Amino acid sequence: MTEQPLRVNRTELRRLLDGRWAHVREQARDVLRGDDFAPVAGLPMQEHRELTLKRLHALADTGMQTHGFPESVGGRGDVGGSVVAFEMLVCDMSLMVKMGVQWGLFGGAIHALGNEQHHREYLPTVMSVDLPGCFAMTETGHGSDVQNLRTTATYDPKTEEFVVHTPEESARKDYIGNAARDGRLAVVFAQLHSAGIDHGVHALLVPIRDSTGAPMPGVRIEDCGHKGGINGVDNGRLWFDQVRVPRTNLLNRYGDVGPDGAYSSPIESKNRRFFTMLGTLIRGRVSVAGGAGSAAKAALTIALRYADTRRQFTRPGSEEGTEQEVRLLDYLAHQRKLLPALARTYALHFAQEETVTRLHELSSGEGDERAQRELESRVAGLKAMATWHATKTIQTCREACGGAGYMSDNRITQLKADSDIFTTFEGDNTVLLQQLAKALLTNFQDSFADLDQLGLVRFMTGRMFENVIERTAALPLIDRLVTAAPGMGEDANLYNRGWQLELLEDREKHVVEGLAARLRRARKDGSDAFEVFNHAQDHVLRASRVHMERVVLEAFVMGIDRCGDQATTKLLNRLCDLYVMSVVEEDRAWFLEHERLSASRAKRVIAAVNELCRGLRPHAVQLVDAFGLRDEWLAAPIALGDEHARQGDPVPVDDRG
Ligand SMILES: Cc1cc2nc3c(=O)[nH]c(=O)nc-3n(C[C@H](O)[C@H](O)[C@H](O)COP(=O)(O)OP(=O)(O)OC[C@H]3O[C@@H](n4cnc5c(N)ncnc54)[C@H](O)[C@@H]3O)c2cc1C
Repeated sequence: MTEQPLRVNRTELRRLLDGRWAHVREQARDVLRGDDFAPVAGLPMQEHRELTLKRLHALADTGMQTHGFPESVGGRGDVGGSVVAFEMLVCDMSLMVKMGVQWGLFGGAIHALGNEQHHREYLPTVMSVDLPGCFAMTETGHGSDVQNLRTTATYDPKTEEFVVHTPEESARKDYIGNAARDGRLAVVFAQLHSAGIDHGVHALLVPIRDSTGAPMPGVRIEDCGHKGGINGVDNGRLWFDQVRVPRTNLLNRYGDVGPDGAYSSPIESKNRRFFTMLGTLIRGRVSVAGGAGSAAKAALTIALRYADTRRQFTRPGSEEGTEQEVRLLDYLAHQRKLLPALARTYALHFAQEETVTRLHELSSGEGDERAQRELESRVAGLKAMATWHATKTIQTCREACGGAGYMSDNRITQLKADSDIFTTFEGDNTVLLQQLAKALLTNFQDSFADLDQLGLVRFMTGRMFENVIERTAALPLIDRLVTAAPGMGEDANLYNRGWQLELLEDREKHVVEGLAARLRRARKDGSDAFEVFNHAQDHVLRASRVHMERVVLEAFVMGIDRCGDQATTKLLNRLCDLYVMSVVEEDRAWFLEHERLSASRAKRVIAAVNELCRGLRPHAVQLVDAFGLRDEWLAAPIALGDEHARQGDPVPVDDRG
């Protein structure tokens, strides 16, 4: 192995990471400055909420929110830009979530589910925050199972109004952002009844407060109180007691009720309609995945800068003096804590960029229904992987900073508390991975609408399960690499990208096919479909995870291919190797049990992780600095010292060709 000096091109690395929406990232770096957006910690809850609302107005003044709104109402019609804008708000995650509620969920639902009239009437004041609002979907009794929520909206043809009602205590709307203090209007999800027929879940605009801030007649509001994080957001509960709203308050893009009560919809199947409606709202889920990525990047930036300067213990035999003490990041154990997490953060970054691009293109009308199904599944998987990764990584970073990491001033505890809920809202991760697995089993041919229990029964008794590894986009580069792979034998170079891709592809194929066979076998025994699926839940979740690990690797490889600088490409390739090797290392038991790796090769994987960590160590700070998070957003004294070598000289990198 030869060693070559490597000068990473910082500008190119930043360009690559900033990607298609670099202008939005630059805008954020430009406008999110000063006291208006500085991180805050330890404020009393009411003060924190007040500040967050004030900041939301300040943010509205920057125009950052206009990206996601249609041009017809003064927006920029740039869906991808709106997701990237959200993720840049890592300076204040309460503000990030408040922004998500106001513009992404509340405004996004009016945009996606309403008609032109709704857009013209409401979206300008939603954008300016003159009309603060809520997205009221979850109920105490039904969180993940939205289809079975209990709030009703019953049409009364005599007055041409809907009567919105909370029929039982478990039907109260719960955890609703903006409800406890600021919201005036809510998009309320309810079972729509007309002429005695239940048409399933629909969304309506329901005023919840008057202009003085008092609850509207028939609306009861309660504060959820203090939370584990994001306490600048006012989450609350809502009850409706026969609240009447005009017929035109129904967001009627997918289902409408005429003055006489006649129901009409462009989508005949109730199930399909429901999942189509939900499918239009996935922007929030993609945004949360991006926000989680930013939180992980911020924590890693703090922890790696600190690890690069903090010293503990002296090398035996060296001279006395602090300068002789060992930097934390020179310890292999410390590298192993942080560098595989950094590699995965990069991998997820590229997967996020790819997903945002697809979302953007589909929102502009490019793509068919299958593409939409694939996107929904991809988003479900990515959101779960990214948010779990953030939670785990931030905790690791906290520990990696020792006692200093526990000080609120150093930001990590706040990042942890604020991003924790990302694993639950916008879809609980476990539930999302189950949705993804169902889509994998049917090869995306059906919508989630057909993947309920009945759909599963059909699947279990239906046509033979076919090849699951079907690349969703044309990825000729990946095909080329896999085709050129040296085979799965003992001699293949662990760092051969084609071999790595094939290894993860093979694992996915085996796990998903095994799951399909297991479900069918059990079903043939005459077992109940629910029980069969339930007994295989571990396998179901594994299928989704291994699928996503393969998809994320492909996105990383495609991302590196866009890099225009040789040395930077080389560095990113090492980082990608570390991503793959740490994924394989984590799942060594499976690869051994299924004879995909021999015992000696599995040990070589461990050695490879060590080797890659050592090789990447000198570049770690550069790699986090390339995220482009402003120092004032990090605001952690341990990450802002002068002494660390952020502008360091070229350093050697392992050259494996
Ligand atoms: C701070 C905060 C803000 C929120 N903001 C909003 C908002 O603005 N608007 C809104 O409508 N909602 C909001 N929510 C609600 C959020 O979307 C829900 O909490 C979420 O959908 C999960 O629902 P749940 O809490 O009922 O959990 P549950 O669905 O009860 O899940 C609890 C546990 O059960 C597991 N579980 C559930 N079903 C299954 C299954 N089939 N198989 C295996 N395990 C399962 C889950 O994995 C989870 O671990 C917010 C929540 C919080 C905490």
